[in-house]
Amino acid sequence: MGQIQLTDLTKRFGDTVAVDDLSLDIADEEFLVLVGPSGCGKSTTLRMLAGLETATSGDIYIGGDHMNYRVPQNRDIAMVFQDYALYPHMTVRQNIRFGLEEEEGYTSAERDERVVEVAETLGIAELLDRKPDELSGGQQQRVALGRAIVRDPEVFLMDEPLSNLDAKLRAEMRTELQNLQDQLAVTTVYVTHNQTEAMTMADRIAVMDDGELQQVASPFECYHEPNNLFVAEFIGEPMINLVRGTRSETTFVGEHFSYPLDEGVMEAVGDREDLVLGIRPEDIEVVDAATDDTAADAALGDHELRMDVTVVEPHGDQNVLHLSHPDQPSADDALQAVTEGMHLVTRGDRVTVTIPPDKIHVFDAETGTAVHNRRHDQEADLTQLEQ
Ligand code: ATP
Repeated sequence: MGQIQLTDLTKRFGDTVAVDDLSLDIADEEFLVLVGPSGCGKSTTLRMLAGLETATSGDIYIGGDHMNYRVPQNRDIAMVFQDYALYPHMTVRQNIRFGLEEEEGYTSAERDERVVEVAETLGIAELLDRKPDELSGGQQQRVALGRAIVRDPEVFLMDEPLSNLDAKLRAEMRTELQNLQDQLAVTTVYVTHNQTEAMTMADRIAVMDDGELQQVASPFECYHEPNNLFVAEFIGEPMINLVRGTRSETTFVGEHFSYPLDEGVMEAVGDREDLVLGIRPEDIEVVDAATDDTAADAALGDHELRMDVTVVEPHGDQNVLHLSHPDQPSADDALQAVTEGMHLVTRGDRVTVTIPPDKIHVFDAETGTAVHNRRHDQEADLTQLEQ
């Protein structure tokens, strides 16, 4: 069984705490993505799991067995690296077969058979007699995967395996890896700094920052129910809008706008005063430019504000709008909104922007902790995502 348990795992390099008291349970057959910015401790965690790095303290269990003192070969894991690590002088067949080198109990003919079987699974059977320099990046990555799969390990450890590929190939390989994971049902720990990979591939995401685990949850939960400002900012593209302000009675007061907080939010906020208001760009509603500015100003509702469109980024199916407060083009509480591609707004328009009260997040400005997350009906939201 490939379940993994990390308890109070810490790794220090001199004064640097690369991984800080990490506890994490990964289920058998789960696809867990470790994500976070450069230097947050992802690779070190993976390398400790692999046995390439010794833990300073804490314990590692795979399939219930204590791993801390086992050499990598005895951990029943296979690792796939960013740079493929193929042997240039060997053919694809020999490279994949190399994965079986340490394995016992195979005859030579069985090894050959197994290599062909794996190559067929990965769609590279016709490349078996080529050398790595005769392959494209995507094909090389498949060979590296083949070398890992061939051993039929309990756990796959993957360190940024797709980052050397171009965007189109990366998207294709993401789908392939997911299919492979469904087919092989092997516990996988996958390291990336790319939040799109994390969101699209993971059963659960473990978000790390500065050696510390910030949240471990499904992509849906990390996105809609972030534990804190770090997770809210790291997950989501374009990034969540965050506005700093203070509470005055039941109103959030930012530098350029005020926003009434409803009863439910106020209960969560309690007597906190310094707050950060968060709203995802796609949750902002943008109403077409009104011709009569004064009338539009006068008709503004509680959760509405007037803003100027400073930049329109068309993405085909959608537009990303950069919005600033009137006459404040460089204020740092400018917002970004995502609108449908057919919704035509142009640079220089003044628009009415609605921040729906059921879509806001509120964070404690001092600790960064989320005190209120947007309401959502998970089933309805999932149906919408699937459409
Ligand atoms: P990246 O995405 O850039 O690979 P990462 O999240 O994988 O980053 P790690 O490589 O785990 O981060 O590094 C975590 C911290 O530990 C960093 O501050 C790094 O400089 C430090 N570190 C990693 N390996 C060593 C080492 N062998 N000696 C000293 N410090 C190290």
